[in-house]
Amino acid sequence: MSCCQPPRYLQIEPTTRCNFTCGFCAGRHLVQQDLDLAAFTRLVDGLDDLAHVELQGEGEPLLHPDLFAMMRHLRTRFPAARISLITNGSLFTAENVAALLECRVDSLMVSLESADSDTFRAIRGGRLERVKRGIALLLELRRALGLERPLVGFAVTLLRQSCDGIGDIASLYRELGLDGGIMMQPLQKMEAYARYYDTAMAANLLQPDDVGRINRIIASDGGLRAALQRYGQIPNFYSELYARSSADPPTCPWLERGLFVSAGGQATSCCYIKHAEQDGFGPVDGNWQQMLDRRAAALEQLRAGNVPGQCSGCGLAARMRQYATQIR
Ligand code: SF4
Ligand code: SF4
Repeated sequence: MSCCQPPRYLQIEPTTRCNFTCGFCAGRHLVQQDLDLAAFTRLVDGLDDLAHVELQGEGEPLLHPDLFAMMRHLRTRFPAARISLITNGSLFTAENVAALLECRVDSLMVSLESADSDTFRAIRGGRLERVKRGIALLLELRRALGLERPLVGFAVTLLRQSCDGIGDIASLYRELGLDGGIMMQPLQKMEAYARYYDTAMAANLLQPDDVGRINRIIASDGGLRAALQRYGQIPNFYSELYARSSADPPTCPWLERGLFVSAGGQATSCCYIKHAEQDGFGPVDGNWQQMLDRRAAALEQLRAGNVPGQCSGCGLAARMRQYATQIR
């Protein structure tokens, strides 16, 4: 595959603003801003083909006043493109739910770390009951309209303080009648995120004994296993973007076929790049060829085994460096 191909997989950060206050969130330390609708429109209009757009970043997408205008534009320009969203689930009002269904969103993952209201509030600064009511409303209207999408699941950040409760999250998943599966990821260790953790949050990075306990919980909880498997069976933004042959040399799929767009309207290689102006490829509605050239140069650099500072700590970059060293 040419390394200069325009992206078919876009992850777009509608906003860095959020109504929650999670202690692990890098977004609260970034400039608080919304992606400009005109810049978004020019970006989408400049592309010939899009397979999947995921609207998520370091803020709450549903806070963007033009989110549905963006989705409608996507639907008009690329009717077959899949649209997915990761949300904190607190803004599923009747109006938003109706618009999400009208825009034919394919998948919604609701982020949470605990199914216990007090723990949820302590970690996220929001109310679990409101999230539960919103999800129930969404599924009720979806059913009433005879729709099968969006699939709705949970996105769980595993914290040391709450990972023992993942079985309860699976119970809540079943209680609410969700069908999008559960995806789990440990609290991010990369410097781009960890630099914002205070001492208490840093203590939430998983240790080997936590991983052992989590694996034992999964082994003993059939419902949790089924929800995790369900997530693995449904094509999602990452499984589509990362799809490759096991015989291929390690590469960065973001740089080959994806692009991240920050709320400031900057193109970057992926969502790990938090200083978009400094480490990105330029504004998305600027010089498109220059942006693609910079993206291609970044891929060549990684293929040569040189890991730029912004990719430090990324497993993909480490594998590419190891491979480049081996074939030298
Ligand atoms: S809900 Fe998401 S965007 Fe909002 S503070 Fe928490 S991690 Fe950040
Ligand atoms: S190698 Fe760099 S650009 Fe690719 S996913 Fe990792 S951090 Fe992002």
